[in-house]
Amino acid sequence: MEALYWNGRELSLNASYPRPKADEQAALIKVHLAGICATDLQIFKGYMGFQGVPGHEFVGSVVEGPREIIKKRVVGEINFTCGGCDYCNRGLGRHCPSRRVMGILNADGAFAEYISIPVENLHVVPENVADDEAVFTEPLAAAFEILEQTHVNPGDDVVVLGDGKLGFLCAQALKLTGANVTVVGKHPEKLKLIKQRAIRTVLLNEWKPSGFDVVIESTGSRSGLELALGAVRPRGTLVLKSTIAGEHQISLAPLVINEVTVIGSRCGPFAPALEALEKKSVAVTPLIEKVYALSSGVEAVSHAGRPGARKILLRR
Ligand SMILES: [Zn+2]
Ligand SMILES: [Zn+2]
Repeated sequence: MEALYWNGRELSLNASYPRPKADEQAALIKVHLAGICATDLQIFKGYMGFQGVPGHEFVGSVVEGPREIIKKRVVGEINFTCGGCDYCNRGLGRHCPSRRVMGILNADGAFAEYISIPVENLHVVPENVADDEAVFTEPLAAAFEILEQTHVNPGDDVVVLGDGKLGFLCAQALKLTGANVTVVGKHPEKLKLIKQRAIRTVLLNEWKPSGFDVVIESTGSRSGLELALGAVRPRGTLVLKSTIAGEHQISLAPLVINEVTVIGSRCGPFAPALEALEKKSVAVTPLIEKVYALSSGVEAVSHAGRPGARKILLRR
């Protein structure tokens, strides 16, 4: 089958990559669409030391597996857990120490014609959710993870720092709580997309940070943390969404003095994300910039790496 392969140094198209197999636990999925995300771009800079087929955002249909899901359209949770450790037993499989992660850690991902995924990781896509919406389930779930971790009340003042793809999704997830959401960013054209979702937006250089109940750091840049610290009120909550493989030099004293709750936040639950897509309470397709054929995947990845690029999708 066709697959993109990362050997640790370069990405290339392999036209005869071995097709994965279904077994007792894992179904074989034909990939319809896959999304290139910032984590993939980090992998191509050496993040996680990954080698194999990248890609963890996808929608596809079941080719081999349990009869009740054959031919169904599915999305898949990306953490493949051991199922037997303390974390797994407590329902914290996303933190299983021996987990494999699709396209990120010891498991081939979705930039291929087919993938094999544990059946328990699959979610059937509601009929009224199109492929180009369902492919956003994984990043949207990461946005909904915030609501699993902290209680946001109607009327709370929430600021999302960053007008990128993650900021766009986080802002919409948070708005569903009835909170007053503001997005701060540097890109007028991206803020415009957010404003079209009836969410307040401010340009960074016109914004005065202070007094927010909840601050979401999703800038993807190193300076975001300092900005976030200055925006949270005493006893407020700071949610860190950017995975920055770098170091910070900031004083943590303000966190102590202001008794700020800091929450690290990563992957999230698929069910509320799919439900929001089904109810059309969030919009994801405005994020799509271009769809490439899988065979042009190398070019697609370089497009995804351009500053300011929105979502690039791969279609087989
Ligand atoms: Zn991702
Ligand atoms: Zn485990």
